[in-house]
Amino acid sequence: MTCPHAGVTRSVSKQSESTGCLSRRILSQALEQTADIVLITDCHGVIEYVNSAFEQCTGFSRKEVLGRKPALLRSGQHDEAYYQSMWETIRQGEAFRGVIVNQCKDHSLYYEEKTISPLFNSNGEITHYVSTGKDVSDSMRTQKRLRHLAYYDTLTGLPNRVELRNQLSQAISHAERHDESLAVLFLDLDRFKNINDSLGHDEGDCLLREVARRLRQALRNDDTVARNGGDEFIILLRGPINENDVLRVVDKLFSCMSTPFILAGLEYNVSASMGISLYPQDYKSKKDLLKGADIAMYQAKAKGGSGYCFFSRDMESRVMERMELEHSLRQGLLRDELVNYYQPQYNLTTGQLEGAEALVRWQHPQLGLVGPGRFIPVAEDTGDIVSLGENVLKRACRQLVEWRSAGLYLPRVSVNLSPRQLSHPEITKQVVEALHETGLEADALVLELTESALMQHPEQAARSLVELKSMGVRLSVDDFGTGHSSLSYLRRFPLDCVKVDRSFVQDIPENEEAAALVGAIVHLAHSLKMVVVAEGVETTAQLEFLRQAGCEGAQGYLLGKPMSASCFIKHTC
Ligand code: C2E
Ligand code: MG
Ligand code: MG
Repeated sequence: MTCPHAGVTRSVSKQSESTGCLSRRILSQALEQTADIVLITDCHGVIEYVNSAFEQCTGFSRKEVLGRKPALLRSGQHDEAYYQSMWETIRQGEAFRGVIVNQCKDHSLYYEEKTISPLFNSNGEITHYVSTGKDVSDSMRTQKRLRHLAYYDTLTGLPNRVELRNQLSQAISHAERHDESLAVLFLDLDRFKNINDSLGHDEGDCLLREVARRLRQALRNDDTVARNGGDEFIILLRGPINENDVLRVVDKLFSCMSTPFILAGLEYNVSASMGISLYPQDYKSKKDLLKGADIAMYQAKAKGGSGYCFFSRDMESRVMERMELEHSLRQGLLRDELVNYYQPQYNLTTGQLEGAEALVRWQHPQLGLVGPGRFIPVAEDTGDIVSLGENVLKRACRQLVEWRSAGLYLPRVSVNLSPRQLSHPEITKQVVEALHETGLEADALVLELTESALMQHPEQAARSLVELKSMGVRLSVDDFGTGHSSLSYLRRFPLDCVKVDRSFVQDIPENEEAAALVGAIVHLAHSLKMVVVAEGVETTAQLEFLRQAGCEGAQGYLLGKPMSASCFIKHTC
């Protein structure tokens, strides 16, 4: 074998001169005793020598390996091309350097940081290969662990958002080269925050781990499931793939989620919303594909959750607007841009001002005063309603105390509670705190709950309402008649008051059906010892009818529109 590099031959002769003074015995002792692993083969790769560090590290004795080839150490961790390129390098007379994963006699693996150098005779021919190396398993394992920490989610063990983005870039390049397609699926659990809030973070973590396990199990090995953060998972389906293939996967994902999850010993049904974007038809870049799937997921959520949506260009602006609204509402909450307006409520028998309903408004820096219809449903979906509602409650209690000390004696203030607030485990605590901080007595506070809020989690609602009622807080069912409950059903809850919805009030007294209905509601409510307040009263005819029907209270534009606290005091004094 001739060395193509003359320079290597020269350096060999120089080296022999410089080591000439050392005895052969010292040199062989040095080889034998060095802590480095040494292995020498002939030019055909047959092992002629291994030192004792080799024996210690691999567990093979000298006798077992002499005459064999180093391939006996192969671990299966490198492909054939890796070994081929190594051999090419050394056969060309160059040194090979690298970290190789080898296998010990007991099949355990070790990382060897290795240099393999060819040995030349005086004709420049390769006669031997000398491999020297260090066992670097510990530091490699540390590096691997560090890499794992950087690219994998510690809770679920799934690739994290950074690794997902790396894999997506690679998948896009592959799809581009092979003219293939791929799909990005964004999956978000519905109402995960509720579970976290009500069962605590440990149970929330358990749920995320189990979701990750089920998703991983439902998918093929070459699909990627990553955790994007929180309760968001991103699934990368490598091509070739079309909409029907994606639908089959979506089906599988829904069915893997359909078995109840066991949390804190109880069964919970957890659903998810999914959004899908496709390469190349929707987008071609990583960023846009992820954005597209996110937008589609939002759309699936907006349709009520537990469903999926494919991305389409026309949904983009709609969803972006909604995302923008969510974002600016969160900012608005932080900047304290939400204010309470108050609408007066009058006693129909005495004509006295009896209370005020707090109705929230958003003093938007660009849009001006925004009504609750625009942002309450958004806050309800995102969960921001819990803190928003708590602020409304505190402001309302404080306002009543301030009015009273300014000389306006107002018996009560009403505050609306959304379904999500009612099912929040801390609702009673929030009310206690608001009363305590402001010094307001409990029976000056009325909480208005819609029928749908009561029906959503009736057992939980009943428990919270019993607690609130026992503190002395008054409870009222809002928009009565718009849900599908009956007053007898509502008897399960300790309610004090029924608010007849505006849709009935607006048709009285002319519409006989509406008139009969209002009469029946008043009658039934009285028989259940509840008082009746009518909302949306706009005409004197309506007011007169309600008074004669025995309705105790009224509120509406005829008597006063919702107004700021300062206008309220002027209006009523
Ligand atoms: P609601 O609790 O039934 O409040 C009554 C709504 O009817 C208010 O609308 C009020 O302005 C309107 N209204 C009152 N009298 C009349 C009238 O004579 N004619 C007409 N056409 N409308 C009248 P607003 O302020 O837009 O509030 C809408 C809904 O938003 C409220 O309905 C309530 O469900 C919700 N909301 C308002 N503030 C809050 C809040 O702080 N928390 C929660 N969770 N919901 C709130
Ligand atoms: Mg109300
Ligand atoms: Mg109402």
